[in-house]
Amino acid sequence: MNLIKFTKEFPDEASCRAKFKEFRDREGVVCRKCGHTEHFWLKTIEKYECKKCKTRTSLRSGTVMHASNLPFSYWFIAMHLITSTKKSFSALELQRQIGHRYYAPIWLLLNKLRATMGIRDNQYQLDDVVEIDEGFFSSVDTEKEKNSNNKTKRGRGSQKKSTVMILAKTVYDGKPKKKHQKVSKFRYVKMIVMDNLKGTSVDKVITEHVSPTSIVKSDNYTSYSNIKNLVDCHVKRTVKPKEAGKYLPWVHTMIANAKRTLLGIHHMVSDKHIQGYLDEFCYKVNRRYYGEKLFDRLLIASVSINYKSVITDSR
Ligand SMILES: [Zn+2]
Repeated sequence: MNLIKFTKEFPDEASCRAKFKEFRDREGVVCRKCGHTEHFWLKTIEKYECKKCKTRTSLRSGTVMHASNLPFSYWFIAMHLITSTKKSFSALELQRQIGHRYYAPIWLLLNKLRATMGIRDNQYQLDDVVEIDEGFFSSVDTEKEKNSNNKTKRGRGSQKKSTVMILAKTVYDGKPKKKHQKVSKFRYVKMIVMDNLKGTSVDKVITEHVSPTSIVKSDNYTSYSNIKNLVDCHVKRTVKPKEAGKYLPWVHTMIANAKRTLLGIHHMVSDKHIQGYLDEFCYKVNRRYYGEKLFDRLLIASVSINYKSVITDSR
């Protein structure tokens, strides 16, 4: 959707609110008290009322906008920007574009949209042939930063490398016709920030994100030794760093792309929030052929998940 179309479809607060309600009705409202799914719509106070227990639910409650006082139009503009740009954009940029006075609520808004994307992708497991590898992303160590007395030295000395597991679903594509062509085709990617790379942590990621009927490809790292018990087949090989790109082409391509995207937009990514940025990156890569439909997909994801337990308002 381009900007002209967007402003035509959503010229004001009322149009955004109406669209949001339309999508919420379609996805269904669940009563938080009794779990009943049939509701009356009380037009004058803009609330749903449970037909069984009379509990009232506001339009925003239980959605991405839960507890937010920002106008619907802000959310819609953010969703439009996030789904219509290939790269990413910062909260500062969005704040400027919207013309809002404070940075924090805008930052939180974007953070929640990114979390929505992550929750959505977590509903799917990768299958077929899954390449896995670990990558290290530069980030700001928030703990060190907090304990440091020298506020002016922000960033320096408190930098660290966040460990990320990268998983890429690929399908075999026959013999390459050109010299540098990859043997496999890329489908989907996941990136998971890890506390450590111990075997048990790796196993947990594989169990959650990879279908047990898959073939997993990795290098010979010791923490990967139990994977063979979790999937159909585990192919591992000792690879020299130079050849890693050839053996696991797609994870390496994705690591490089993600780093470029993050570095280009967000100069100081904190270790606490790097998962959100990676969630946005993966969500968009995984839906790269959706085109204009991406906006609607994100809107569906935004109305249909109960965020109460997932997102806390801490920064
Ligand atoms: Zn109820």
